[in-house]
Amino acid sequence: MMEWQKIDDSTYSYEDMGVRFFLLVGSEYALLIDSGMKTENAKELAQQITSLPIKLFNTHTDPDHIAGNAAFDEVMMNPAELVNYRRPHTSQQIVPVYDGDIIDLGGRPLKAIALPGHTPGSTALLDLNSGMLFSGDPVQDGRIFMFGPMRDLSAYILSLKRLLAMSGSISRIYPCHGTCPINSGIIPELIAGAERIERGELTPQPVSMFGQNAAAYDIGAAVLLCDE
Ligand SMILES: [Zn+2]
Repeated sequence: MMEWQKIDDSTYSYEDMGVRFFLLVGSEYALLIDSGMKTENAKELAQQITSLPIKLFNTHTDPDHIAGNAAFDEVMMNPAELVNYRRPHTSQQIVPVYDGDIIDLGGRPLKAIALPGHTPGSTALLDLNSGMLFSGDPVQDGRIFMFGPMRDLSAYILSLKRLLAMSGSISRIYPCHGTCPINSGIIPELIAGAERIERGELTPQPVSMFGQNAAAYDIGAAVLLCDE
């Protein structure tokens, strides 16, 4: 049975068919970080945990992260992601969150860290109290989609290098795919692997994903799915 996993007294994760989303509770409101792939009632599920108002932040808007978005009149996201997002209803407002912005749930400040590359507006949230980093898709040990429109491997490497410089303030990383949590030691491994791909040093395996051909590079720390 799918249900919330408790990470600590005010932090929960929900496994939704290979993708996970999170619920963070502050003193004033609670924040869903993404809203699922198959689960369309993420907001109702969050209401099982807390009676506080529930807001939504999207790490990015690939289809496996937005299933429950329609239940929200407002969605927080990096505006760079709007090229990748179709609002489920025209009355839905986008609340822009820029790199460096603080989202404060009430005694629980979260700092936005833009990590473009996987998608243009991919953005992680760093819980400044605990050092927990909710990374979305760019930092994880599963399959990282880097093929098709809007993916940018060079931007991805730059984003991870920027994140690496901040890794002293990160305790654990809570990604949307793969093992959770993971340590920040994965960041330099992802950088090294992505740079080897860029330099043409690795031989990929051909794979077919959703009717598209892609090149799967096993870099040890993760598998990057790139354009052929
Ligand atoms: Zn994803």
